Amino acid sequence: MSWLFGNGVNLARFRARLRLAERELADDKIKIRLEELARAASPDELAHLNLVTLSKAWQRSLTDVVRGFLVATKHKLFDLHFLLHCQGCNGGASLGGLQNVKSKLVCPACEHQNTPSLDHSVEIAFTIHPDLARITFDGKPAQEQYLRAIDVINTEEFKNLFERDKPLPGEHITVGSLTFFFTDLSGSTATYEKLGDGGAYRIVREHFGLLFDIIKKNHGTVIKTIGDAVMATFTHPANAIAASIEVKDAFKQFNKRKDIRGAASLKVGIHTGPCLAVTLNSRLDYFGTTVNKAARVQSIADKDQICISRETLEHPEAWPLVERLPVFHKQVPVKGIKQPVEVTVIK
Ligand SMILES: [Zn+2]
Repeated sequence: MSWLFGNGVNLARFRARLRLAERELADDKIKIRLEELARAASPDELAHLNLVTLSKAWQRSLTDVVRGFLVATKHKLFDLHFLLHCQGCNGGASLGGLQNVKSKLVCPACEHQNTPSLDHSVEIAFTIHPDLARITFDGKPAQEQYLRAIDVINTEEFKNLFERDKPLPGEHITVGSLTFFFTDLSGSTATYEKLGDGGAYRIVREHFGLLFDIIKKNHGTVIKTIGDAVMATFTHPANAIAASIEVKDAFKQFNKRKDIRGAASLKVGIHTGPCLAVTLNSRLDYFGTTVNKAARVQSIADKDQICISRETLEHPEAWPLVERLPVFHKQVPVKGIKQPVEVTVIK
C-alpha cells in the first residue's frame, strides 16, 4: 500500500477532499498547513489535534484555525469530539457531539458528578477522519491549554455547518462568561414611511449585511434577529467592543447615503456574564439574566450611542478600547433588576 504515508495517512484521498473544501476555506495558509499536518504529523498528534497549540505554531488566530478545521471536518478530513474534563479525577470522558453534553455529567471513571461549562470543562478535540487513517481519538484531555467548546460553538461555521449539533431540547449547559451584543435600528418607522415598504426593507437588509460582516470579522456570531434588532455573542468582551466601534463608524457612512439621509440610527448595548446554552425553536440559543440585562443595557442607549455595562468593562482588555473615546457614565434603574444598571456610554 505505497500510497500510505509513514504516519498511515492516505494522502491522495486527503488531498482530494481538501480540494473540495478549498473553496470554502477563507484562509489560504490554513490549507497549506492542513496538508503539511496530514503529511508530517505523528499518529499520536493525529489522534488528538489541539487547535490552541496549532494556532500558536502556525501563527494564525485561534478563530481562523477553528473556522478552517470546521470546514475541513464538514468535508470529512477530520472528526470533531466533545470531551469532558472531569473535575474529580482530572481524566477525560469522550462525549461525541453537543447533544451529549448535559447540565450534569457523571464521570465514567470516578463517578464524580460534574456540572460542565462550555468555557471551562468541555474541550473540543479533532482527529484525522477514520477514512483517511486507522487512527482513533485518544479520549485523553489535553494537559495544558485546550480548545474550549465555546470557542468552536461561537462561530458562524459551527452554526451553519453543524446545524444539527446542539443541546438536546430541555437541556441547558452552563457558560461561565459570554458577551452579548444587542443592536436596534431606530428611526426605522420614519424611514419606512419616507421610502415605502420596498425601499425600507432594502435598507434594513443592507444594515443587517453591514452588521453581520463586522460581527464576523471581530470573531462574533449572530444568534438571531428580532425585527430590526440583532443579538450576537462574543467569547471575548474586547472583540464585542471593537465590533461596536467599527459598526458606529460604518453606520455614519451608511447614513450619509442620499437614499437614507440620516434617517436610520443604531443603538448598541453590550453586557457580559454567565448564561445557559439551550436549544430554542430548534436552534442554539442562550438564556438567563445576563441575556435579559444585555437587552436592557441596549435599551438605555440613545440614537448612535453604544452602551457598555460595568461587567463588560471590568475585563482588563476592554477598558483600553474606550478610554480615549468621548464617554460618560450612567446609572439607570431598570425594571426587574434590583441594583441600578451601571453603564459607560460612547457618544
Ligand atoms: Zn472522573
